[in-house]
Amino acid sequence: MSEILHELLELARAPFGHFTNTRDRLSYVYLGSALLVAIIVYVVTKAREGTLAAAGLVKWLLPKEVLLHPSCQTDFAYFFVVRLLRAAIYGSVVISSSAVSALTVAGLTSLLGPSAPTVEPSFWIAVGVTLVIVVVIDFTLWFMHYVYHVIPFLWDYHKVHHSAEVMTPITAARMHPVEEIMDMSVAGVVIGTVYGLFAYFLGPAAVQLTIFEVNVVLAVFFLAAFNLRHSHVWVRYPVWLQHIFVCPAQHQIHHSVAREHWDKNMGFIFAVWDWAAGTLYTPKGKEEITFGLGTEEDGGAWHSVSALMFRPFQQSAERIRTQFAPRRTR
Ligand SMILES: [Zn+2]
Ligand SMILES: [Zn+2]
Repeated sequence: MSEILHELLELARAPFGHFTNTRDRLSYVYLGSALLVAIIVYVVTKAREGTLAAAGLVKWLLPKEVLLHPSCQTDFAYFFVVRLLRAAIYGSVVISSSAVSALTVAGLTSLLGPSAPTVEPSFWIAVGVTLVIVVVIDFTLWFMHYVYHVIPFLWDYHKVHHSAEVMTPITAARMHPVEEIMDMSVAGVVIGTVYGLFAYFLGPAAVQLTIFEVNVVLAVFFLAAFNLRHSHVWVRYPVWLQHIFVCPAQHQIHHSVAREHWDKNMGFIFAVWDWAAGTLYTPKGKEEITFGLGTEEDGGAWHSVSALMFRPFQQSAERIRTQFAPRRTR
C-alpha cells in the first residue's frame, strides 16, 4: 500500500520536476535568464518612452489580460494533465536514443567487427561531436515541425500548439501527446544512431561539451531568453543574425494569425533550414501580433483541456471520413 502511495506521490511531483531539471527548457535557470532579459527590455523600452517606473514592471511582465485569459488558464491546467500522462503512460512508449545507440553499436560490431577506435580524446574532437549533435538535433526538429505544417493529417495535432491565443513560457508544453510521442521517437532514432556511430568509431573520445548537463550550444541558446518566444515580450535580433539563429520575435511571428506569417519560421535553434526552404520571415522592426490559428476556431473552441486532448482526434477522423467517403459519379 505504501509503495502505491509512494508511486502516486512521485507521479504527482513529475510536472514540478520540469522546473528544477536543468536539462529541461522550462528549468528555473532558463526561466530566470528569460526574466532577466525581459526586465532589461522593460527598462530600455520605458526609458526610451520616458515612462520608466519600477511600479509598472510586474503589471508589464504579468499582464492580467494574459493571466486571466481562458487560453492561459487552459495552458496551466493542460501542462499538469499532460505532464502527468507523460510520466504515467506515454513517456515509456517513446523510442529511446540509448536503445538505438546500443543497437547501432551492435549492428556495426556484427558488420565490421569489434570497435577499435584509434583517436585519443581531445578538446577539438569534443567540439566537433558537440556541433554535429546539435546540428543533427536541430535539423530533425525543424524537419518534424515542417512536416506538421505541410501534412494536413499531422496539422490536426500540431494545431493544439497554435491554438494558444496568449502565450507564456508554459505554452511550450501545449503539445498534443501524439505529436510529442512522434517527435521524441524520431529524435530518439536519429540522435541514437549518431551517438552509436560516434561511440563505435571514436570510443572514449565521443564526448559532448556540456553545461547544466546539456549540449553547450543548446544550453547557451536556452540561456539567450529562449523562453520569451512564448510570451508577449518582443526580442528581435538584427536581421542578419535572424538568418542564422531563431530569435523569440521570429517564433512569435510563427504563432501569428496573419496570413503572411503562416508556416514561417519553423526553426528551433538555427534559421538556416527555413532560409533554405524559403520559409524564413525576418521582422525588420516591432510588429503587432495577434496569436492564434487565424481561423473561425479562434475565440473559444480550444479553451479547455478536453478540447486540446480530443479535438485533434475528432478532426483527423473527420478528415479521413471525407477523404474516403464514397462519391456519386452519375
Ligand atoms: Zn508550428
Ligand atoms: Zn511555439
